[in-house]
Amino acid sequence: MNQFIKNLKTPIAIVGMGKSGDSAKRLLIACGVSADKILTFDGKLESANFRDSNKLMSEGKPQTLVVSPGVPLSSAWIKEAKSHGVFITSEISLACSCLSTEKLIGVTGSVGKSTTVSLLQAGLEAFSKTGFVGGNLGIPFATYAADVLEKKRPVADWVVLELSSYQLENCEGLKLDYSAITYFTSNHLERYDSIEHYYQTKWNILGITKNKMLVNSEGGDLVEYSKAKQNAQVKVISKKDSDLQSYQLEKAQLIGQHNQDNMALATALTIEAGWPAIAIEGMKNFKGLSHRLENLGEVKGVRFINDSKATALDSVMIAATAAADTLSAGGVLYLLLGGRDKNLPWEQLASLKDMKNTVFVFFGECREVAQTKSALQGNSYARLEEAIGYIFGKVKAADTVLLSPGGTSLDEFKSFEDRGDFFKRKVSEFSTL
Ligand code: ADP
Repeated sequence: MNQFIKNLKTPIAIVGMGKSGDSAKRLLIACGVSADKILTFDGKLESANFRDSNKLMSEGKPQTLVVSPGVPLSSAWIKEAKSHGVFITSEISLACSCLSTEKLIGVTGSVGKSTTVSLLQAGLEAFSKTGFVGGNLGIPFATYAADVLEKKRPVADWVVLELSSYQLENCEGLKLDYSAITYFTSNHLERYDSIEHYYQTKWNILGITKNKMLVNSEGGDLVEYSKAKQNAQVKVISKKDSDLQSYQLEKAQLIGQHNQDNMALATALTIEAGWPAIAIEGMKNFKGLSHRLENLGEVKGVRFINDSKATALDSVMIAATAAADTLSAGGVLYLLLGGRDKNLPWEQLASLKDMKNTVFVFFGECREVAQTKSALQGNSYARLEEAIGYIFGKVKAADTVLLSPGGTSLDEFKSFEDRGDFFKRKVSEFSTL
């Protein structure tokens, strides 16, 4: 058992039994803490030992709380426990106590985290057999640590962590070799008393970074924020930087200007970290997270993009602009809009009417409301399948078909994933038509 975990006073209560809490429990047990010294608390989970914090504190009498990111540290009962000497820690801190030779990269930001971290994953996979990518995205960090302890995986050469601001509030022991912030915009203000407090929490990643911290020059409020903080450890990265030009990042598979920013940031990180150039090739080939502006490639010269997750009109605007900006010469963009309405301000799409060479195709339950409010011209079909059939009858090489519906999938499908998978199946059928 390592010293940090050995010194934890028991009983230890895991507060919040989601993925992170489950993983923390597993790691404690893998480290040799006896299962009967571990209590579980979750306000919503039947199987937890406690569902009421008063009972947890009075009956369970925990001496240590492992607080999951979903539970605010500012909760009155947690603050009170702390003032009575209960030690507060986290899944991330437990995992950090188990590290040996790994080098760490951490990425935070209001948006763009998952994309940047997934790009780094594609880069890491190009050269490393042991690298681990996880944290807020995908596999919890403590699962990695437990797997290593149980000899289910080797020690990683590189660990890339997506870190939310909640994780950054409670991560004692975390030391990053390099870090990056993608973007600052107001978010999660339900958990922070001010935007400054929210930004400061994210900026705290600098204090736990040993070498450079990179920030995206197009990162919203981040640019002004980093200027005001002036710190030699911080490096601002732009896709226009001359040292990035030789990598031809514009040839990356990920589409959209914002993804060029994410590409530039991820590339600069790999250069700082000394990753081999093959990592950058791996990142350039990354086609995007499933259902999020996912570039399905070309079939018979027609490019297909699956953005089934787009159920907010900001996302539709980003996707439509990205697809139009990267349209081949002479090509037409077919944009599939529809699904189930959630009282969306479809009027927001009205400006798309000025987009050249674009055909709008409406489908699903909200096709009429979407078309009426957006005032966009185009054919309309009750089902996605019919709308796709219409497009398949018209498309030619150099065109792009984009599913970025705006509406939810629930009129026809179980989930946005289900809708995106249906679209993908249709695309593969297109090759045989
Ligand atoms: P996160 O993991 O931080 O929530 P994602 O990488 O999943 O972020 O991206 C979520 C959405 O944020 C994307 O679909 C895109 O619309 C937007 N986005 C991503 N990266 C950027 C960026 N660099 N600048 C502006 N918007 C971005």
